[in-house]
Amino acid sequence: ATFKSLGLIDPLLEALDQVGYKAPTDIQVESLPHALEGRDIIGVASTGSGKTAAFALPILQKLWEEPKGLFACVLAPTRELAYQISQQFESLGSAMGVRCAVIVGGMDLPTQAIALAKRPHIVVATPGRLIDHLENTKGFSLRGIKFLVLDEADRLLDMDFGPIIDKILKLIPKERTTYLFSATMTSKVAKLQRASLSNPVRVEV
Ligand code: AMP
Repeated sequence: ATFKSLGLIDPLLEALDQVGYKAPTDIQVESLPHALEGRDIIGVASTGSGKTAAFALPILQKLWEEPKGLFACVLAPTRELAYQISQQFESLGSAMGVRCAVIVGGMDLPTQAIALAKRPHIVVATPGRLIDHLENTKGFSLRGIKFLVLDEADRLLDMDFGPIIDKILKLIPKERTTYLFSATMTSKVAKLQRASLSNPVRVEV
């Protein structure tokens, strides 16, 4: 398969060429056609598989087709992962001028509130700091988002973010597309899956 045969649009094909991704990885081959059809996805895949691009590309494609305000929220277990995810969105979405905000713990709250006020398209966050802003930052909400990504869901739950994720789920639209990626499928992940995805396609590599 090629990125083109999977259904990606020209601006993304050009970005992939620029970042030097020559061919899609297995998880990208398996998930992109379903994601581009609008399905929810459960991806059983670990770091190194190319899972980040597997969820970033369909979000960027939809953003290109239907540009609007805050578009997607990605939850990640650690700061480092959140920054890596944001970097991939920015490099793959540079031609479309995508704006990302990284909202993680240990950073200054007012500075983050200013970043959120600049109307990013994508918020990449750790759950604890995100709920802090949802509850306390005036004018910030996720009520208009189209996509939710739960990345490394097993680690999110191992770090006891489950109750915070439940709170976040109550503050975002029910009608949305959700992608859940996890290296392992535990019973806790299955429970989160039932609470957050609708009729998902499961892809495993
Ligand atoms: P991830 O599993 O998302 O953490 O990605 C692992 C690494 O593979 C990252 O450095 C990506 O930039 C890179 N990558 C993702 N997709 C591809 C691809 N199709 N071809 C080459 N490298 C890729």
